[in-house]
Amino acid sequence: MNYLSTRGHPDRKRFCEILLEGLAPDGGLYLPEAYPQVDTATLAKWRALPYAELAFEILSLYIDDIPPADLKAICAKTYTAEVFGTDEIVPLRELEDGVYLEALSNGPTLAFKDMAMQLLGNLFEYELARRGAELNILGATSGDTGSAAEYAMRGKKGVRVFMTSPDGRMSPFQQAQMFSLQDENIHNIAITGVFDDCQDIVKAVSNDLGFKRKYRIGTVNSINWARLLAQVVYYFAGYFQATASNDKPVSFTVPSGNFGNVCAGHVARSMGLPIQTLVVATNENDVLDEFFRTGVYRVRAAVDTHETSSPSMDISKASNFERFVFDLVGRDAAKLRKLFVDDLGLQGSFDLSADPAFKQAAERFGFKSGRSTHADRLATIRDTDKRFATLVDPHTADGLKAAREQLVPGVPMVVLETALPIKFAATLVEALGAEPARPKKFEGIEALPKRVVKLPADAEAVKAYIAENCD
Ligand SMILES: *Cc1c(COP(=O)(O)O)cnc(C)c1O
Repeated sequence: MNYLSTRGHPDRKRFCEILLEGLAPDGGLYLPEAYPQVDTATLAKWRALPYAELAFEILSLYIDDIPPADLKAICAKTYTAEVFGTDEIVPLRELEDGVYLEALSNGPTLAFKDMAMQLLGNLFEYELARRGAELNILGATSGDTGSAAEYAMRGKKGVRVFMTSPDGRMSPFQQAQMFSLQDENIHNIAITGVFDDCQDIVKAVSNDLGFKRKYRIGTVNSINWARLLAQVVYYFAGYFQATASNDKPVSFTVPSGNFGNVCAGHVARSMGLPIQTLVVATNENDVLDEFFRTGVYRVRAAVDTHETSSPSMDISKASNFERFVFDLVGRDAAKLRKLFVDDLGLQGSFDLSADPAFKQAAERFGFKSGRSTHADRLATIRDTDKRFATLVDPHTADGLKAAREQLVPGVPMVVLETALPIKFAATLVEALGAEPARPKKFEGIEALPKRVVKLPADAEAVKAYIAENCD
C-alpha cells in the first residue's frame, strides 16, 4: 500500500514513513492510493471477530511494512477490556427505536480520541525502537487531544511529550487529568496566554528547522493518517452491532470539529461498508454544516470562532476536510490545489455550489449535516436524561440533535458518543442541576500533586525548556 499527497507531490510513501510525519512536503495530507475493497464474504468473516482482531484485519489492508505477527500483537495490546472498560471495547446501546449510541469514550481520558491515540502510542514505540530513534512530541491543547496524547505516550520508550496549554483555561477536571501524570517522559507546560498562543508557539518551534531536526520534534495532531485509520475500525464494529446481517444499511452521526472522526466514516464507507448516511454534526462553529448545505467552505478568523459548551468542536478550519474534498473532486490534485491553496489562501473560502461535484457530496458520498446551539444542547441533555435515564455530554448532544433530524424509518442511526459527561460537568450542572457520576479511577484527582511548569507565551522559552529536558 502506497500513500500519496492530496496536493499532487510525485513521491509515494509506505505507512511507517508517514507514521512519524505530519503534512506531506507540499503541504498536502496523506491518503492511500486507493481504498481497499471489502466484499460480503469478508464482512461475514469480520462480523464475529473481537475488536482487537477486527482492528488487525482492517489495519493489515493499509500497513504492509510491519510484520503481521507484530501488528497483531500491537492491536492485541492496545484494545483490551482493561484499557477500554468492556470486552466489546465500543459497546452499542439502543436509546430509542432506531437510535443508538456507540460508546467510544471509555478509554483512559474518557473521550473518543483514546481510540486512536492508544494505538498511536504503541505504533510509535514499536517504530522508534526498530529505528533506534527518539521523538519529542510537541503539542498544543485546550483539553481532549493533549490528555489523550499524554495517556497514550506515558512511560513509552523513545518518546517524550511536551504539551502546552493555556494557563488556567482548561476545566479543573481536564487540568487534573493531565497535570497529575508523574511520568518522567510527560511534560506539561502551562502558557501564560490563550490556546492560539500555544498553537503559535508550536508553529514557531516547528518552523525552526535546525531546532526541529536537532531535537527530533514531532506532533500527534489529527491529520496523522494512523489516527484516522484507527478510527475506521469502530465504524465496522458499530455496524456489526447495529445489524444482524451485512445487507442492511446503517447511518452514523458524528459530532465534528476537525473532520477527523467523520472522515474515518467516509473511508469505511469507501471500503464498501454499507453506510447510508454520514451526518456531520456541528455546534455554532458551523463551517462544515455551511459547506454541506451550500457548497461554500468559508474558514473563520479566530475572533469569529465562538467559545461554546461543546469546546472540542470549536474550530475555525477543519484540518482533515481536504482529504474528503480530494475524493469529492475525483482525486484531481490540480483542482484540489486551486481550492485549498489559491482560493482559501486568497479569499479564505471556496465555492463548489455550482460544481457537479458538490451534488455528489450527498448523493454519492452520503453526507448530510446539522447544527446546534447551546440551548439545543441543554434541551437534548435534559430530554435524554428524562426519557431514557441516560446522561450525554454536550458534544454527543450535538450529535443526537442532528441525528434526529435525519432519521429514516428502518435504517438504524448510530450516534458516536465522543466524550463522557463528567468531562464537561459544568454544562451538565447547568442542564440538570447536578454533577454526573465520576468513574472511580478519577475520584479526587484534583487533589493529586501536579507536575507542570509555567512559561510565558514565548517560543524561545519553550525551546530552552525542551533543550534542558532532552537528555
Ligand atoms: C475532538 C473531539 C470532537 C471532534 O472530532 P474531530 O475528529 O475533530 O471532528 C468531538 N467531540 C469531542 C469530545 C472531541 O474530543
